[in-house]
Amino acid sequence: MLLKSVLQLWFFTLSSGSLAAAADSPPQILLSGPASSSSLSSSSSSSLPLSAPAYRTDLLALHKHLVEIPSTSGHEHDAAVFLANYFAELNWHYELQPVAPRADTPSDKPRFNVLAWPPSSSSSSSSSSSSSSPPSPKVLVTSHIDCVPPHIPYSISTPASEAPNTTTVIAGRCSVDAKGSVAAQLTAIHALLATGALRPSDVLVAYVVGEEVSGEGMRTFSAHNATQLGATLRAAVFGEPTENRLACGHKGALRAAVVATGKAAHSGYPWLGKSATEVLSKAVVRLLDPATELGSSARYGNTTLNVGVLQGGVAANVVAAHARAEVLARVAVEPHETGHEKVVARIEELLREVDAEALRLEVDGGRGPTRCDCDVDGFDTFVANYATDVPYLAGSHARYLYGPGTIHVAHGDNEALTVGELEEAVEGFKKLILHSLEV
Ligand SMILES: [Zn+2]
Repeated sequence: MLLKSVLQLWFFTLSSGSLAAAADSPPQILLSGPASSSSLSSSSSSSLPLSAPAYRTDLLALHKHLVEIPSTSGHEHDAAVFLANYFAELNWHYELQPVAPRADTPSDKPRFNVLAWPPSSSSSSSSSSSSSSPPSPKVLVTSHIDCVPPHIPYSISTPASEAPNTTTVIAGRCSVDAKGSVAAQLTAIHALLATGALRPSDVLVAYVVGEEVSGEGMRTFSAHNATQLGATLRAAVFGEPTENRLACGHKGALRAAVVATGKAAHSGYPWLGKSATEVLSKAVVRLLDPATELGSSARYGNTTLNVGVLQGGVAANVVAAHARAEVLARVAVEPHETGHEKVVARIEELLREVDAEALRLEVDGGRGPTRCDCDVDGFDTFVANYATDVPYLAGSHARYLYGPGTIHVAHGDNEALTVGELEEAVEGFKKLILHSLEV
């Protein structure tokens, strides 16, 4: 209850001008309209190629600011404050939605989801009393602001003296996953609002924390907002690295541990005991054998298994009494609610075949695959092997999963994308948002 009352203290809606309550030293924001230049290339904008979109400078400036802020899961405070400043500068309404801290979250740096929506043309933004609650949008545009560790600084391949072009490479943690999506989504929304193709009251954005760990940001958002959103929401557009392809869904996951129990003995007389490490080794070899079938489907392919942690024994001269393997399976078997249970049954069957007495499976949790909508003209499609926040938002809306950059570098020390990929994503998000208004 103490936690709840502390959180309630933080659960407030800010309007522009009251931001200092949340920020010790708010980062400087450089914004400009499409016709003016901004921080990245103000001295050389005249040399931009003719094909450069009008939004390039602002897109790259926003992306740079986002990537420069370290925001490892649990430490998203400064990124949330940056976005709050950003929306305040635009005279958007916004809300900082508290999310429970992780174990290593600093007490003076609480975590927030950032919800925001553009002012309707009839309301004067910062003084509007209607800003206290989100609107009833047709489309939710969302992604996450937390990143995997370690933080890697922002870098750009084009020298400061030259204008970036479509082949310019931008590197740094979260440059792809998922601040590339955040920057592209907001750029797309600004462009659609500017032309009148999107009405301000039809869109809500939510940038959530904790996606890279257990999805607690989206779960919190869903708990607070899904019921109200359900009345009007037609679609949610989730930004994740898909190489600008539209995902038809992604595999589910099963977290579990294979536990082996043996009997300790002197290592010179191993027949007097039973080696848990030996039994576990046999089990792991069996589970990882390419010929072992853990469950498959036409849409999602094969269920795959990673043995991420192996532990066992106490000393080289003692027959091991205990051993343990922590595993994560990427589940290809539907349905969403119970597909993982079929993989559990298959693993348990295999463990019985290896050693029914010594081996057991401890299931930590899981789910089957998540379906997304991918019947939109103009997009290549694929199925993703990674987890997302998509299943954590309750509701019957259409669900699109899309964004710039590739998952193959997303959690690596080589995380990077090109300016051309970012700009293609802006155009892709525009199409998806407009499509969402019609579904
Ligand atoms: Zn991600």
